[in-house]
Amino acid sequence: MSHQSIIITIGDELLIGQTIDTNSAWIAQQLNHIGINVKRRIAVADERSAIVTALDESIPQAALILLTGGLGPTADDITKPLLSEYFDSRLVVNETVLQHVKQIFTKRNRPFLERNLKQAEVPESCKVLFNRLGTAPGMWFEKDGCIIISLPGVPFEMQTIMTEEALPRLKERLAGNHIIHKTLIVAGVGESFIADKIEDIETALPPHIHLAYLPTPGYVKLRLTTEGEDKAALQAEVDIRAELISQRLGNIVAAAEDLLPEEILARLMEEHRLSLSLAESCTGGYLANRITNIPGSSSFFKGSIVSYDNEVKETLLKVPKAILETVGAVSEETVTQMAEEVRSIMRTDIALSISGILGPGGGSAEKPVGTVWMAIAGKRRTVSRKCHFFYDRLRNKEQATNTALDMIRLFIQEELGL
Ligand code: AMP
Ligand code: MG
Repeated sequence: MSHQSIIITIGDELLIGQTIDTNSAWIAQQLNHIGINVKRRIAVADERSAIVTALDESIPQAALILLTGGLGPTADDITKPLLSEYFDSRLVVNETVLQHVKQIFTKRNRPFLERNLKQAEVPESCKVLFNRLGTAPGMWFEKDGCIIISLPGVPFEMQTIMTEEALPRLKERLAGNHIIHKTLIVAGVGESFIADKIEDIETALPPHIHLAYLPTPGYVKLRLTTEGEDKAALQAEVDIRAELISQRLGNIVAAAEDLLPEEILARLMEEHRLSLSLAESCTGGYLANRITNIPGSSSFFKGSIVSYDNEVKETLLKVPKAILETVGAVSEETVTQMAEEVRSIMRTDIALSISGILGPGGGSAEKPVGTVWMAIAGKRRTVSRKCHFFYDRLRNKEQATNTALDMIRLFIQEELGL
């Protein structure tokens, strides 16, 4: 049986745009893992009637409701007394929580105030979900066949309670359904191009398998989703479809998993024991940042020379002044020299360079805003490529970075004959 859930996030900050609701995204992913669908997400203010209405509407529609937020010790957080009343209960001090809260205050060397005693109070009728990392416990209620779980808004506290206390129990209580997602990362082409290429495969999909296109600067995520009881059979069905699509699209499929371009590259570099260096102009170190976000990147990544100014290109990377003065910094000649020089300085298998005009200013008729040159130097050859991006500065930087990461992937695959 398919289990439907609803997420209700509580907090004025979510409605005025001060805080982005990351809790819902995280919770939805976790619930999908254990076969629970999220059919609605609701965001409400720290306001009595708004919370009550959301609960009244949601309980008859769902097997599970997850609430986050509104559990702090200050007057603006009203969820706990409200839930106590809503479930015809009364607030009582929970000894375990009280000891834990006192311990936290002692550790932090802060005075324990009357209002902090309130943090150890929970509705008598709920099951307490222990909050190892904070003072506000999670609470588990049941009403009319629906499980209602209230969690603090602080993301890392919410996540810990979910992982340690709520998800294991939910797995048992709402077992039986499986949700399968499989994502292909398709680089360097637009979604309509992909749709055209795989039209017949898409049309032939059975009704229980859905295909979604999620465009991102530089690549498209193609996600196949299905759900049901027989996990192995569903997985096999989805895998066959993904394989068909992969074969059709060829080497523009960078991965058959939901990975970031830098993760895909890291795997490839590590697998083939290759080393990488960078010479970055327009990305200003962002490429190096993205790569070093990946744990273990030190095993293949040597470093980046951020040669933003022409003087640095000339002195550190030996780009001849004559080239900079004639064809300019955004040119095939410049990026070729940058890549070959940094490869030799850092003694790596592969080096990538990038130089471009991200905008809004700096464009010309010959080199409009969005013109970006990249080069890759390897042991046997150097290849270069000119790209055009059409967005604002930061999106252009994002797309240039993703494109560069994928260009390295393709270069390695070609070199190694993969
Ligand atoms: P609260 O439990 O209402 O005291 O929330 C404490 C903190 O958690 C606040 O600083 C919020 O910015 C943050 N927070 C609350 N709800 C969310 C949410 N849905 N996503 C991300 N952060 C949140
Ligand atoms: Mg709040």
